[in-house]
Amino acid sequence: MLERSNELTAWDRDHFFHPSTHMGMHARGESPTRVIGGGEGVYITDVDGKRSLDAFAGLYCVNVGYGREKIADAIAAQAKNLAYYHAYVGHGTEASIRLAKMIIDRAPEGMSRVYFGLSGSDANETNIKLIWYYNNILGRPEKKKIISRWRGYHGSGVMTGSLTGLHLFHNAFDLPRAPILHTEAPYYFRRADRSMSEEQFSEYCADKLEEMILAEGPDTVAAFIGEPILGTGGIVPPPKGYWQKIQAVLQKYDILLVADEVVTGFGRLGSMFGSDHYGIRPDLITIAKGLTSAYAPLSGTIVSDKVWQVLVKGSDELGAIGHGWTYSAHPICAAAGIANLELIDELGFVENAVLTGAYFRAELEKAVGDHRHVGEVRGDGMMAAIEFVEDRDDRQFFDPARKVGPQVAAALLERGVIGRAMPQGDILGFAPPLCLTRDEANIVVKAAADAIRSVLG
Ligand code: PLP
Repeated sequence: MLERSNELTAWDRDHFFHPSTHMGMHARGESPTRVIGGGEGVYITDVDGKRSLDAFAGLYCVNVGYGREKIADAIAAQAKNLAYYHAYVGHGTEASIRLAKMIIDRAPEGMSRVYFGLSGSDANETNIKLIWYYNNILGRPEKKKIISRWRGYHGSGVMTGSLTGLHLFHNAFDLPRAPILHTEAPYYFRRADRSMSEEQFSEYCADKLEEMILAEGPDTVAAFIGEPILGTGGIVPPPKGYWQKIQAVLQKYDILLVADEVVTGFGRLGSMFGSDHYGIRPDLITIAKGLTSAYAPLSGTIVSDKVWQVLVKGSDELGAIGHGWTYSAHPICAAAGIANLELIDELGFVENAVLTGAYFRAELEKAVGDHRHVGEVRGDGMMAAIEFVEDRDDRQFFDPARKVGPQVAAALLERGVIGRAMPQGDILGFAPPLCLTRDEANIVVKAAADAIRSVLG
């Protein structure tokens, strides 16, 4: 077994260009590499036989947990019957049509159609094109700018990397590109003046947004995109009243709202969609990850009836829409999606995200909330984060060069649990599979408390 692992590791370092990885350190063998061989429930096992409790569900995507035979069987049956046919010029398969109906049945009110892609990034590319097309059809060719938030994450393509508001994804890539702008992050703990209440900070964010719209000219601003809860930017729930105030500004200037629900769609917050959870009425919704629990790559743009009517007018004027991917609505991925959504219903995972999620966050708070270097324990549903600070009272942050977050995540892994050091700030993130039990939550909490003490005393 060890030989196999050594051989794979050597090939890996020599041939595999990994995403989001320090290229030099990996190639030189200076950073750890891990070859994963199997998974069951909330656990993964590497090829050396080491088991870890995956409290980040891969990249917050394996929502139903690993090793679900129902989904594997659905994929195999679809592959045997019809592995592929395209969806261009009105073609479909039973799987893709059924899945579109299941999504609209679960989506927030006012949603009409699903355009399928493969990743969250390509779904957000689709959104940008649809927004531009929409305004061209409405005879508003100047209304094209898209406002995103600092610390938002929307992918790492050219335009979607521009939407993302994290420096790591811009550095040396000549991003962000016009016409993308970034406004204030809804991050009360880091950004609010200490005299402000959460509501006042929400008001401040809405004022900043309105100032930007007025400075740019409302006739040039097409859309606003945001995750219901900031994910990769630090797992930060919105401050009280945030979405209500933001939506009031958008309505005033006729600006479309895109809810990026790649992480929150299909149950992660304890509601089928984060939009329903926080009272958001989006015009477009991005979905991916939880749609298939990552058993196959599938994403989508859910289009509201308001936008759909304009798109239809567009093709009546211009002909068929010039937008498509070879693998749009891939039948194998759609079959995985159907089985996954059925499992979520059958096993009550949305409810478990409410109950076990609340238990998990409360236990984390009890275990480490008082630690002198823990600034905040926060989250919602089955998402949680611990933010580390140098000084609790003055809310002083650690020097990023100390890499406190990554050190705690490494200490956690040594204790058999996977959390994620979020990329900007010293934040340990958790987004376990929605099937997490209380006993498993207890294991994560104990390991986290031990890891934090081992690094920070
Ligand atoms: N949008 C959000 C909110 C995400 O969290 C992610 C990925 O983490 C994406 C978009 C991009 O998805 P993908 O990595 O599938 O391109």
